[in-house]
Amino acid sequence: MGSTIQPLPIDVVHLIAAGEVIDSLAAVVRELVENSIDAGATRITVSLWADQWRIRVADNGAGMDLEALKQAALPHTTSKIHDRQDLWNIRSLGFRGEALHSLSQLSQFEILSRPATATQGWRVSYRADGTATQVETAAIAPGTIVTVDQLFGNWSARRQGLPAIAQQIRAVQAMIQQIALSHPHVTWQVQQNDREWFNLWAGETARKILPQILRGVQIGDLQETTIEVPIPESGETSSLYVLAGLPDRCHRHRPDWVRVAINGRFVEVPELEQTILGAFRKTLPRDRHPVCLLHLQVPPAQIDWNRHPAKAEIYLHHLSHWQTHIVGAIDRVLRLKPESLSESLYSERVGKLLKTAESEGGYHVDREIQLSSDAAPLSSVRAIAQVHNRYILAEHPAGLWLVEQHIAHERVLYEQVCDRWQLIPLEPAIILNRLSTAQLEQLQRLGLDVEPFGEQIWAIRTAPALLAQRDDCAEALTELSLGGDLQSAQVATACRSAIRNGTPLSLTEMQTLLDQWQQTRHPRTCPHGRPIHLSLEETTLARFFRRHWVIGKSHGIEL
Ligand code: ADP
Ligand code: MG
Repeated sequence: MGSTIQPLPIDVVHLIAAGEVIDSLAAVVRELVENSIDAGATRITVSLWADQWRIRVADNGAGMDLEALKQAALPHTTSKIHDRQDLWNIRSLGFRGEALHSLSQLSQFEILSRPATATQGWRVSYRADGTATQVETAAIAPGTIVTVDQLFGNWSARRQGLPAIAQQIRAVQAMIQQIALSHPHVTWQVQQNDREWFNLWAGETARKILPQILRGVQIGDLQETTIEVPIPESGETSSLYVLAGLPDRCHRHRPDWVRVAINGRFVEVPELEQTILGAFRKTLPRDRHPVCLLHLQVPPAQIDWNRHPAKAEIYLHHLSHWQTHIVGAIDRVLRLKPESLSESLYSERVGKLLKTAESEGGYHVDREIQLSSDAAPLSSVRAIAQVHNRYILAEHPAGLWLVEQHIAHERVLYEQVCDRWQLIPLEPAIILNRLSTAQLEQLQRLGLDVEPFGEQIWAIRTAPALLAQRDDCAEALTELSLGGDLQSAQVATACRSAIRNGTPLSLTEMQTLLDQWQQTRHPRTCPHGRPIHLSLEETTLARFFRRHWVIGKSHGIEL
């Protein structure tokens, strides 16, 4: 095999470099759309003709004058940074000045643009080296229209190496949705083959955007919070935004909606994704995953974007500091707050239950979440009756709650057990027989004091405080010996100790349980992920009972 080392022809070198920046239709969309956002656009139209490898992005941003247009596609030209100092202070999405140049190499490339102050715009086409060929005036609205045609037309191997067109189209859609979530103030119109494909309406935060993207998720299923986070040793602050699906209302069979954005771009920070998953532990059913978006706004010096050409991976300083604040923010979002009473809990469940046919309810409540972390019970929630010895019926000014007594108590006990996994001496010891080696090891792993007592007999001398006083302690210990990790043991302990359904409760007992449950960290679900309360809101009830009808008319009475 001939293995002479030779320099590559320079045009091949350039092609390879361009292909690093632009490796797919979705990458074109990412680069063009991020330019539009950097230019301050609030309305972006994306048009895709995948069969022709053509993409057009039109925006209402700042636009470029003729001088800028002539420069835009030259190598390493950018208006976003000027010197080394700026490199530490990047606040825009782009800064490398590579994207437009790469596109001029890889496609038939053209830009129309008009600054807001100009009376007309210009249309410029570019050669592969990024220099302008045709220049002519154009009558367009202020903003910019970039067209990429015949992408990779001069590089058929690259086209063949890409996934099937259908998959690329999905990737384009996912890219737009992702950027929309990190830039909620933008309105999107997206077309395919000259036909409307989808739209996304602007909103104040991602809470308004996600329901437009994720089918079946409604705005009332999501809660959000923004907190200020000081940065260690710097005096600077940054902000942390969390949007979380309430665990009793939405979860996914894959962790595909656990996402992290930093300074306007979704990135891969596996450490933070793990932190999010951890914060939802024991709030969701087995094998289900939360919906949770995190958006950090940090001073540029805290991150290093240069880890990856697609800028998808980064290094973030002070990781553990962030992790602590993320867990705190998620806990805050999942707590019950005064707002929870009337947070417009219109959920599909309640909707179906009441069989209200009206689909457009007035449930767009736009409430700021209070940042107080005090978890006092909501004094306005009052137990008024027990139903079937199983449900606590509670009333509050905005409606009714049905709370299942067993799982509410299970949540309370579970958090107590986690906070103090206290082993206390058993007097007398409990004797168990016929334990397998695995069971023995499991009890020892949980920290229990186990001693051989005879042939196939063991004395258990300590037990979790919650179980020690119970009559069925021996059974409970056997159950623990069969279980998995400490966490499952804690769940089993809480479940066994919680008030059974079928147990009559006095009003005082019910009120105490309600109060304790409301103060838990994750009140919406039990540790197995079952919902704890059903909220019947006054607004929903009013709709169901048709209280908006004019009674006089419906009774044929003139008032
Ligand atoms: P970068 O975004 O890293 O600066 P690009 O090659 O993507 O590099 O763009 C080069 C320059 O062209 C930008 O710095 C900007 O000044 C200008 N530009 C690109 N797209 C737009 C747009 N949609 N609106 C206004 N200016 C734009
Ligand atoms: Mg750019």
